[in-house]
Amino acid sequence: MSAVLESYAQGSWFTPSDEGTPLADANTGETVALFSRKGPDVSAMVEYARTVGGPAVRALTFHQRANLLKEVAKHLMGYKDEFYALSHRTGATARDTMVDVDGGFGTLFGFSSKGRRELPNSTVILDGPSEPLGKGGTFVAQHVYTSRPGVAVQINAFNFPVWGMLEKLAPAFIAGLPSIVKPAPQTAYLTAAVVRRIIESGLLPEGSLQLLSAGHEGLVDALGPQDILSFTGSAATGAILRNHPNVVSGGVQLNVEADSLNCSVLGPDVAVEDPEFDLYVKQVVTEMTVKAGQKCTAIRRILVPESMAGAVTEALTDRLSKIVVGAADQADTRMGPLVSLAQRDEVRRSVKALRTSCELVHGDLDQVEVAGADAESGAFMSPILLRAEAGAAEPHEVEAFGPVATVITYGSVAEAVELAARGRGSLVGSLVTRDEDVAREVVLGLAPWHGRILVLNREDAKESTGHGSPLPVLVHGGPGRAGGGEEMGGVRGVKHHMQRTAVQGTPDMLTAVTGQWTTGSRRSVGDVHPFRKNLAELRIGDTIESAERTVTRADIDHFAEFTGDTFYAHTDEEAAAANPLFGGVVAHGYLVVSLAAGLFVDPAPGPVLANFGVDHLRFLTPVKEGATIRVTLTAKQITPRTNAEYGEVRWDALVTDQDGEPVATYDVLTLVAKGEE
Ligand code: NDP
Repeated sequence: MSAVLESYAQGSWFTPSDEGTPLADANTGETVALFSRKGPDVSAMVEYARTVGGPAVRALTFHQRANLLKEVAKHLMGYKDEFYALSHRTGATARDTMVDVDGGFGTLFGFSSKGRRELPNSTVILDGPSEPLGKGGTFVAQHVYTSRPGVAVQINAFNFPVWGMLEKLAPAFIAGLPSIVKPAPQTAYLTAAVVRRIIESGLLPEGSLQLLSAGHEGLVDALGPQDILSFTGSAATGAILRNHPNVVSGGVQLNVEADSLNCSVLGPDVAVEDPEFDLYVKQVVTEMTVKAGQKCTAIRRILVPESMAGAVTEALTDRLSKIVVGAADQADTRMGPLVSLAQRDEVRRSVKALRTSCELVHGDLDQVEVAGADAESGAFMSPILLRAEAGAAEPHEVEAFGPVATVITYGSVAEAVELAARGRGSLVGSLVTRDEDVAREVVLGLAPWHGRILVLNREDAKESTGHGSPLPVLVHGGPGRAGGGEEMGGVRGVKHHMQRTAVQGTPDMLTAVTGQWTTGSRRSVGDVHPFRKNLAELRIGDTIESAERTVTRADIDHFAEFTGDTFYAHTDEEAAAANPLFGGVVAHGYLVVSLAAGLFVDPAPGPVLANFGVDHLRFLTPVKEGATIRVTLTAKQITPRTNAEYGEVRWDALVTDQDGEPVATYDVLTLVAKGEE
């Protein structure tokens, strides 16, 4: 007997009081689990997330949160067989499952890595440099991102029960938000299995992840102005959520990722014998058949030059006829069933709508040969290729969320762009071309209508991740019909979940608030050179004020000869005098920076282990022969690295001349031993 799916709410597993309705195996129609729409008290779940989960996550730094995600991913890898077996029951083949399950884990690893590399080991993110607002230097501003004391609620679609959850959970968690996951009923048993393994691991702080294996009823009503609602699913549900009073006037931040009519354009330069032709055809077939086309990024519109329509249709038909449709767990199956019989009915209805202006060129809507399963009990269907009549409207309006795509022809590149735009906003588009002018025209024309664009040809094909693969480091989402939302994109995805605030005040106040030294705030010059201090001893604001050094002509000549940089401004009196910026020989900028290092270092072995670069280097005033320079170096940011004996120290470097004019500014980046805490 199948068990009714449980929710994880307020720290324990909740069993619904009714027995629920069956969720069918997509291949066989057998019941996999029971699903009840009557779940736990959603308002209490929201409150629990806000009061228990949120404070626990926000007590951790970005790096600690990122590390936990990595641990979760490693833990889940141990249960892949269990997840694969369940995934097959949703109709996903091994290849499809890799996208969902391994892709989901990859997203956790990806965010973990970005979080540790690109965010500070603290709880506040600084956005850009401070802005001076007053002439006297006492009034400045700094933009900061802080965590919200709310909850991230995700309402997911059926097609990616694992990835769909993890790609939302990862950025929300790093941003300091607890999550409530509400999977789509059809495949909720797989999401529930993954959540159960995460909860069992005890890795995430209690309250930071709850699962609602039930209907959505009451969920959005419980949200408020610090909460974020991320939705993936149909445009129709997206519209309902957009009009919810808590979104319209209650301040809930809504992110929608809805169905989109993604296109792939074959460049006018591609001939049948080019490798690009094969790449194009292969990619279209892959996108039509992976997940049986139930993919928000699948290619729905095949845009080809008029002259190529016959060849493309023929090549697609040829490949599609070789696609083995069958049980998802069979090794030679290329395309499994749709998620449910209801979804197949839905796709059939959409294909019928498309056929008002499109001719069927491949496939049979009612019948399909099925390998290793009973064609009657499973939700199998054949890939369907259509060809649009001239001026057809339906292919730009109707989304058949299955293995269905339409060939549409264009006359000019400008027309291809126009046709793409008729989709009214898509998640992803692709272009197959080797012609750089075509690429520029098409990509710039398509970009306002797309969240991501792939330009594919023989040179990047081997490494290309493909039209349909969203990546954790790239934004996923799209304008207009695609929902207007944006997810992932590395730390951008984290920042989407946070609040940006401009904080104004004195430099000292901003240093105190942000934990990072702000230009103009107090410097502390002591008896001990800061390079003699380990991380535990060093304080923000610790400063070295160096001795002076006069830059001689001999220094400049020596540097020119030694490095080979004999650019005329450093060597040729007459030519340098004619230079409107210098009016005479000047020291190399790199000489100034090198001399500055000579002025600020403390040479003996000590806690400073390495210099790993400089950021934001600017040369501000030319240094002429005879000028006297000095450097002020101030500890600006201290970032202990987790799982290492050292951390990073960012130093503010300011080189000035004898008149106190800034000559160069930059950040020096060093690795410094931690020492005793
Ligand atoms: P739905 O939009 O119907 O459902 C998606 C999620 O929204 C489910 O978890 C559903 O849960 C929930 N939901 C439905 N109504 C509401 C509501 N009023 N308030 C809050 N949550 C709600 O999409 P389906 O999954 O049924 O797919 C239907 C179509 O959506 C597909 O045929 C396809 O066209 C498109 N789609 C697009 C995807 C994309 O990634 N862009 C992905 C999947 C589908 P419950 O049913 O419990 O209410």
